[in-house]
Amino acid sequence: MLSLGIEGTAHTFGIGIVDDQGNILADVRKTYTPPSGKGIIPSEAKKHHESVANEVLEEALKEAGVEMKDINIISYSTGPGLPPPLLFTAKFSVELAKKNSIEIIPVHHGIAHIEIGRLLTKCFDPVVVYLSGGHNAILAFTGDTYKIFGETLDVTIGNLFDTVARELNLEMPGGPKIEELAKKGKYIRLPYSVKGMDVSFTGIQTVVSRLIKEGFRKEDIAFSLQETCFAMLTEVTERALAHTEKNEVLLVGGVAANKRLQEMMDIMCKERNAKVYVVPMKYAGDNGVMIAWTGMLAYKKGLKLEVKDLIKPKWRIDEVKWFI
Ligand code: AMP
Ligand code: MG
Repeated sequence: MLSLGIEGTAHTFGIGIVDDQGNILADVRKTYTPPSGKGIIPSEAKKHHESVANEVLEEALKEAGVEMKDINIISYSTGPGLPPPLLFTAKFSVELAKKNSIEIIPVHHGIAHIEIGRLLTKCFDPVVVYLSGGHNAILAFTGDTYKIFGETLDVTIGNLFDTVARELNLEMPGGPKIEELAKKGKYIRLPYSVKGMDVSFTGIQTVVSRLIKEGFRKEDIAFSLQETCFAMLTEVTERALAHTEKNEVLLVGGVAANKRLQEMMDIMCKERNAKVYVVPMKYAGDNGVMIAWTGMLAYKKGLKLEVKDLIKPKWRIDEVKWFI
């Protein structure tokens, strides 16, 4: 039984093929890069996806050594995401499914990030820390959905790191460059803003911009930024563990790559007899494999995610009835 998954919520157009055991047969992605110094332009991302879609599909089938007739279900990232690339991806997927008379399954992009993490790390019921360019949430499975326990009240940590990196004239994406610089930094006090289970980063952003203008060392800024933001995130993660009585933490999203974040979460978890899992970096970013696998899970459970609309740009994760 094979599932072909199509991702296209933002910068990446990817197609993955998996079997029902979670073996990965194909993983092909092409990524749109915005003009330097700029954020993603939605209409350009759509044009990018349009121009690579057929090529990505052909490559994926070839990589898996299969043909369309061997595919049992097609899943696609229905949301959340940017409407132009989402709409192209949805239409491409639906047409492909129709043409080949294959069942189509809509997939929530955020759940897909979590499910590929669960598959590849073998954790079972974690508090999920989802930190990327577009997301900043602490989640856990309760009842019949993934629920959001904490969020950012303003910008995401990925955005904050990229903004600071731009102000420091570092290359994009900024996160890895900040991590490198931080190794040689000393601490400067920054605003620490945790409100209940939520975090706020704009105060830090304002102070850091001022420090940069005042000529403080890049290394010290990078170090202080990491220490402060990660301490905030570790604090709310600990509270989520205590509240849910779970004993696993799963880090997903691009920022999960950060070794200092992993270390701080690890120290906190050891004190609570909990364990940290990190999604393998290859699958931390957007990809079609996570969509294929999540579609497979939904199908095997007999769950037909209801799609009234072809795309759901603002689809909340707790609107999706799920299972673990
Ligand atoms: P995603 O949206 O999941 O593709 O994640 C992209 C975000 O992760 C960008 O904001 C990057 O700056 C950030 N990122 C990637 N690697 C690291 C790292 N080592 N430390 C901190 N942030 C990172
Ligand atoms: Mg993503």
